[in-house]
Amino acid sequence: MSNNQVFLISIKEEDIVALRNSINIILRDYKGEVPEELVSDFKLARFIKGHGANALSAFERHLLFRQEYNIDKVRNEILEEEKKQGQLKWPYFMEKFKIILETVWKNIPPAFHHQCSSEYHCVTFTILANYFFSEITSKNLEELWLELVLYCDVYFDLVLHRISVKHNTPCSRLDIVDVTGLKIKHFGFKTISLLKKMGALSQQYPEMIGATITCNVSKVGLQIWNMVKGWLPKQTESKMKLFTADYLSFLKKLNVVPSLLPSRLNGSCTCSLCTHYIDKSLLEVCIPAGTLYSSKKIQCQKGDLLCWEIYENSANLPFWLTYSVSPEENESSTRESNLSVTPMEVKGSQRCRSSGSVYLEISNEKSWLHSQNVIYALYLEVNYNNISSYEQK
Ligand SMILES: [Zn+2]
Repeated sequence: MSNNQVFLISIKEEDIVALRNSINIILRDYKGEVPEELVSDFKLARFIKGHGANALSAFERHLLFRQEYNIDKVRNEILEEEKKQGQLKWPYFMEKFKIILETVWKNIPPAFHHQCSSEYHCVTFTILANYFFSEITSKNLEELWLELVLYCDVYFDLVLHRISVKHNTPCSRLDIVDVTGLKIKHFGFKTISLLKKMGALSQQYPEMIGATITCNVSKVGLQIWNMVKGWLPKQTESKMKLFTADYLSFLKKLNVVPSLLPSRLNGSCTCSLCTHYIDKSLLEVCIPAGTLYSSKKIQCQKGDLLCWEIYENSANLPFWLTYSVSPEENESSTRESNLSVTPMEVKGSQRCRSSGSVYLEISNEKSWLHSQNVIYALYLEVNYNNISSYEQK
């Protein structure tokens, strides 16, 4: 049985009718035009599934929330942008959030809306460590970030409504969260209060998230999870699944096959979103004193444009690219000379000298005592045309 059927069976038609009769009375006082996604059968079913007998009061709370946060204004802005662009714009790319995108995220958003699964569920990717929450708080961008969270909720409200209506099936979000590199230090007091506020906002949209699949959970990740789960609404908690590295088989059960996943998550999707953004996402590593760090290998063809970015290399650690002619023959690997020319931030690129695999090595071998943090990305530049639209399969 599909997840959609499971969803539908749990909701009785007469409950939807009863809820509709009650809300029709309240909605007489609605200021402005009532948005269609607010009153669709699917939306009412989400309230019933999420709140049971309390669906009506939850709906009333949602109306108050819409007033308080000016949701109809946000919605209009998103629709205006769509008129200009021809398709809904992922809020992370909207002009009003540019300052976070540029200064904190170096133009690569930490969350993406990907294509739909075969059951029309919206797959989203989040690289949690790349939110750089401490930078958001140190740059006083918390309020703007919460606004972005709000815009994303409104965005998904529209998207899920449209897909549900088009395919006559209650679709929801499948959130895939990569927690590689997440550390306790990313969760300072300010970050925790920020996440709590985010959780409170998203609670206003019941049953939008079908499942949250957390990948690459380490020991530290588990500790963080135990810390975080206390603040999550109970329903959200039950929808979260934690995995170390064995998430692919679980995702397959949800019809999220490797062709829908970026290579970062061991998938094979070559859509513009995956190749242009997710493969370029930054990775933070701590390199212990006296050791050499090797990145994951990238398969390349002779002539491919290979790019690297290195940040926070405050100790100016030397780094270089190492090519292996064939992935198995490590003997035949050749090191490019030290590429570190400018301290702190380095971006560069070069054409691959040969086909095979290539990886980045960063050396902290000279240090006796101090481990060093480095944030980097290594990726192949791929020609791309369009950022994938949510309608594409
Ligand atoms: Zn993709």
